Amino acid sequence: MAEQLLTASGAPAVPVTYERLRAELEDSGRAYDLAMIDRAYALAEKAHDGQRRRSGEPYICHPLSVAMILVELGMDSESIAAALMHDVVEDTDVTLADIQTRFGAEVALLVDGVTKLTQIDFSNVEDRQAENLRKMLLAMSQDVRVMIIKLCDRLHNMRTGDAWPEQKRRDKAKETMEVYAPIAHRLGISSIKEELEDRSLRYLDPVGYQNISNLLQERSDDFLKDVCRTIDAHMAQNGITMATIRHRVKSVFGIYRKMYMQSKDFDEIYDIYAVRIILGSVAECYTALGLIHDMYHPLPNRFKDYISTPKPNGYQSLHTTVIGHEAIPFEVQIRTWDMDRMAEYGIAAHWKYKAGISGSDGKLEERLAWVRQLLESQRTSSDATDLLSDLKSDLLPEEVFAFTPRGEVINLPAGATVIDFAYAIHSAVGNRMVGAKVNGRIVPIDHPIVTGEIVEVLTGPENRGPSRDWLNIVKTSEARNKIRNWFKKERREENIAEGKAALERELRRNLMNIPADQYNAFMETLARRNRCNTVEEMYAAIGYGGLQMARLTPKLKEEYQKLTAAAPKPVTIDFKRTHTSDGVVVEGIDNCPIKFAKCCSPLPGDEIIGFITRGFGVSIHKKDCANVQSSLRQPENADRWVKAWWDDASKENYKATLELTCMDRVNLVSDIALALGDMRVPLYSLNARTTDQGRAAISITVGIINTDHLNNVVSRLKKVRDVVNVARS
Ligand code: MN
Repeated sequence: MAEQLLTASGAPAVPVTYERLRAELEDSGRAYDLAMIDRAYALAEKAHDGQRRRSGEPYICHPLSVAMILVELGMDSESIAAALMHDVVEDTDVTLADIQTRFGAEVALLVDGVTKLTQIDFSNVEDRQAENLRKMLLAMSQDVRVMIIKLCDRLHNMRTGDAWPEQKRRDKAKETMEVYAPIAHRLGISSIKEELEDRSLRYLDPVGYQNISNLLQERSDDFLKDVCRTIDAHMAQNGITMATIRHRVKSVFGIYRKMYMQSKDFDEIYDIYAVRIILGSVAECYTALGLIHDMYHPLPNRFKDYISTPKPNGYQSLHTTVIGHEAIPFEVQIRTWDMDRMAEYGIAAHWKYKAGISGSDGKLEERLAWVRQLLESQRTSSDATDLLSDLKSDLLPEEVFAFTPRGEVINLPAGATVIDFAYAIHSAVGNRMVGAKVNGRIVPIDHPIVTGEIVEVLTGPENRGPSRDWLNIVKTSEARNKIRNWFKKERREENIAEGKAALERELRRNLMNIPADQYNAFMETLARRNRCNTVEEMYAAIGYGGLQMARLTPKLKEEYQKLTAAAPKPVTIDFKRTHTSDGVVVEGIDNCPIKFAKCCSPLPGDEIIGFITRGFGVSIHKKDCANVQSSLRQPENADRWVKAWWDDASKENYKATLELTCMDRVNLVSDIALALGDMRVPLYSLNARTTDQGRAAISITVGIINTDHLNNVVSRLKKVRDVVNVARS
């Protein structure tokens, strides 16, 4: 019955009515829930009342026809009810909630699934996206019945597609060819697959389609039935009584593919007509082959023994092509029942082989093979055990599919996050990611992708990198590797910066001042001496720790000596004010370590001068220090004196030691401490001892800010009772 209705020769002339559908249900011998189907029809008829299809028919004809195809496929009551109502949510006032209330969750789920698939328009997908789309649709139709209803919906639309304008016909045909026919093929509903292909071809290449149809019509395939009868009788005469013999005519599109894509002439296609003989044993297969070759003339080079030498995918059969009494060649396939099942439902690789599907979705194929078997048993079983309702298929539990805003499909493992999505687009997108929107709303960065979501990656500036935390969030190794690579590369840059800074610190520590015009050459020489190809490489090595400063410094000093020997003039000083961390500015030297000379202990406010020591930075003296005056007179030291100022902005403390001479008494020390406390002057050390004649000598070290401050402290201390004198030590 199914084959008769699903042939490509044209839509059934009689429009489907509910009476016809109901008769078909009753005749099927299965226990359908007719009451529910009646209610579904009543709802759909009322909802679509007044609506018409483009062809002018009442709209209800369409859901009725879809339901009819489902009955022919042997689908269950819920599928039939859902098919009758499949367009009401999309096109009428009826809501999904209404259907849920009146028909339950199962039917509602099916209607909802079909509605969702209908809302997606894939008419302009690129070829490379087609496989992902097919997989995504399968994943979206959580229940495989959703996809089957959708296929029947598409089939009926294609049957009545003549009512569409030219462009819509072509768009729908292309989409059908690229997305829906391959899905039908995978689900093993070959009758639907072939009709979808043939009807699509009719719109995509009307001339090619018509040519082949004409060629097929010129020759009736009636001879095939005679052939089957003749073979059956001949085999029975020769002791093979349990043969099952089937025949088929190749689809228009199947022939088209060979003629136009493999450039064959119609007469060169020998498997347009085929007879399949299924037998009980391998021995019978070879016997049957002999009988066939007795009866018909075999074409040379057309015999294939796939029983002794199976195809790589495990397919087994004997193939031969013979010429019958009408001089029309036909292919004969002979196999056992086991081989037939294997060929029909068996290994995933078989389908891949035939459909040219690449990729490693073996699991999907296995699961689809299982779906296919269930469909087949559903079609042939007479009881109404709801095999299909067990098919909460979840066909692709380990994969998810999401869209970019431009409609590209990104395929990811289940559990993958928006970060994985960003890196799947491009590493540059991932590295710049700052957040993501899913279906227009901002989501957390660890949001796991759900199939069908539209994900928009929000990006920041180019130099923005990933976060190390992401390594714990991402699910794909692709994203993980790209993040690691970024850090490796980025760490190199960090290393270079770090190494350069360390080398510059070392130069300052040694008070080496390399003239700007010789800097690059100096560094290049130094890099070569340290076996680095480039200066950057040397910096990176220092930053990384591969080149230790202790090993580098001797070479650095040697090179510096060569440099200064070549240019014997004293180190030139560039006259910019640079700051030290100790509140002193030393002319021409940036951030050098300084110390305050013990001979004169300069304090802020004092006039100062710096002396470049050998290896201990710059020592700061008071300008009127006696040592300074004598040193300046020595010629070998004169060049080493540099100008220095107090950094006015500094608020740091300086330590000053004061010697107090006092009359000793009880509480003297605590009175001094209180006086300092009142002035908020920090006291670092205090040393008191009695001297002769009832006197005490007290030495204190305090923190002061500058000379004025010190003078204030001194005069205040002098006011403490029994303090005789205060002097700077
Ligand atoms: Mn529809």
